[in-house]
Amino acid sequence: MMSLTNSPFEYALPHIQKLRGYTPGFQPKGDGWVKINTNENPYPPSPAVEAAIKEAMGDALRLYPDPRSDALREEAAKLHGVSSEQVIFGNGSDDILNLLVRAFAQESPAGYLLPSYSLYPVLCGIQGTGTVEVPFDRSMKLPFDALAKIEAKILFVTSPNAPTGVGFSNADLSRLIETFEGIVVVDEAYADFAEENATELLAKYRNLVVTRTFSKSYGLAGLRLGYGLADKDVISLLDRVRDSYNVNRLSQAGGLAALKDQRYLKAVAEKICRTRDYYRAEWEKLGWFCYPSQSNFLFVEPRNAAGEAGPKVAQELFEYLKANKILIRYFPSNPLTESFLRISVGDEDQMLRVSETIQKWLKNA
Ligand code: PMP
Repeated sequence: MMSLTNSPFEYALPHIQKLRGYTPGFQPKGDGWVKINTNENPYPPSPAVEAAIKEAMGDALRLYPDPRSDALREEAAKLHGVSSEQVIFGNGSDDILNLLVRAFAQESPAGYLLPSYSLYPVLCGIQGTGTVEVPFDRSMKLPFDALAKIEAKILFVTSPNAPTGVGFSNADLSRLIETFEGIVVVDEAYADFAEENATELLAKYRNLVVTRTFSKSYGLAGLRLGYGLADKDVISLLDRVRDSYNVNRLSQAGGLAALKDQRYLKAVAEKICRTRDYYRAEWEKLGWFCYPSQSNFLFVEPRNAAGEAGPKVAQELFEYLKANKILIRYFPSNPLTESFLRISVGDEDQMLRVSETIQKWLKNA
């Protein structure tokens, strides 16, 4: 047997040895949890999805899927009023974000805002590319002056933002896209819960990329499906760097059925928005600050019975809810997020349990 003098770890690329991988939200084992920590949909997907997946099963699974997911591209193009050459599908929108980093961020760094989706720096770390972080302040409005100064060929903007839920208007996004010398990616994972979205800007700006996911509003996080919309030259570059069969046969079938059922999507999104707005108002009545959310989660700064807010209070409530089998998300690593909790909007029963447990916490203090 050949023997290595060093650990196999030492043979890896230096930037991979240093890499810290992405930490996904905790997936609890066992029953009885209220799992509202990863912004999944509490409601099932359109019934048309299961029927389509069943039909796609069977003998056809011997065969590779359509490498381009063409039926999906055509349906999404129709939905957004663009040409099918302006659409690409991926194994979740994470796949599309990864392709963007691969294609645009090698030589020069990639820019992103803080706080926003924490996967962007991880994708850059895998690629060995530098990053430029542009911090928000507590207003959570786009910091235009700082963004105008960054040296990057690609900039990631999450809108509505995560974990705050704050959405950026098309007027603000246009201002940014017009002044940025490079590709602006507007990550619209939560756009179906928002007042506005950036797809209409695609007709105007060749440097805009919009990404979407089936994991939130469509209730299909388990399917792993997402897409990107952009100028056809951008899409053709992304097609060069993607895995040949990046969307499996069952996801293509299920995703197509979901896309075609826009009525179902709208009904579910409206129901979630109603629950979201109700609980935002409830928590504001307790004197808790909560960002105006255009997504399927609320970012709230809790106060204890003595009226105190801060990292200790947020951490304490997070632990209390967890001890009561309610799983939400706490982001202690940034001063702008350490006093807040992110609560995904669950169904009515789940939200009632959250609300009652918060009342118990306030009384027990
Ligand atoms: N973008 C943002 C802002 C997200 O919060 C998420 C979900 N974690 C994603 C993209 C990933 O979506 P998908 O499941 O399609 O990979």
